[in-house]
Amino acid sequence: MKIMFLGAPGAGKGTQAEIVAEKYSIPAISTGAIIREAIKNETEMGKAAKAYTESGALVPDEVVIGIIKERLEEKDCKGGFILDGFPRTVAQAEALDSMGIEMDVVVSIEVPDEKIVERMSGRRVCEKCGASYHTVYKPSKDQKTCDKDGAPLILRRDDSPEVVKSRLGVYHEQTEPLKDYYASKGKLKIVIGQEEVADTTKLTLEAISGAKA
Ligand code: AMP
Repeated sequence: MKIMFLGAPGAGKGTQAEIVAEKYSIPAISTGAIIREAIKNETEMGKAAKAYTESGALVPDEVVIGIIKERLEEKDCKGGFILDGFPRTVAQAEALDSMGIEMDVVVSIEVPDEKIVERMSGRRVCEKCGASYHTVYKPSKDQKTCDKDGAPLILRRDDSPEVVKSRLGVYHEQTEPLKDYYASKGKLKIVIGQEEVADTTKLTLEAISGAKA
């Protein structure tokens, strides 16, 4: 199964991607997580991406296309995968097409902008493994450290309200056109993001299994 999640930053696609990945035993691939890891490790790619990411802009297409090409060639992707945060531009979607990759379903998780700004201020990520939590909607057991590895939880710099607003602008302008792109291929399913993660998961799984049938 090849599943793609679309949605504004903070709409909850990363959380749903992790849940669905576990259920289907396929990897969830987040270009954002790969980029953050590269920034942390100060690799050449990380150094080049840092300024874009921290200001809420998109990293250039050729860089992310290179990242995803390499990642999808790994063995664990043979039985399917989930794309979370890629593609984010029509050029990236076209690159995926030209790699010969056809998605089974594209799930767009929709949440109003005001709600997103409110949600993002409570988002926390594990400094070590990148797992995401929320102080209200998905708290870790002690609110301070990661349930998986005990490392500290931090507020990402690009989750600050000013950066979130500019990321939403980038989403509407550059990524939202992908909904039409995949709707015209008959792949698009819309899921309205709910207050409770489990309710969104239910709708997401229905959308995916409906597409499979
Ligand atoms: P995310 O964790 O998916 O919200 O991604 C965090 C940041 O990484 C984004 O704001 C971009 O700067 C960068 N990024 C992640 N995925 C992409 C992509 N497909 N294209 C361009 N930039 C990306």
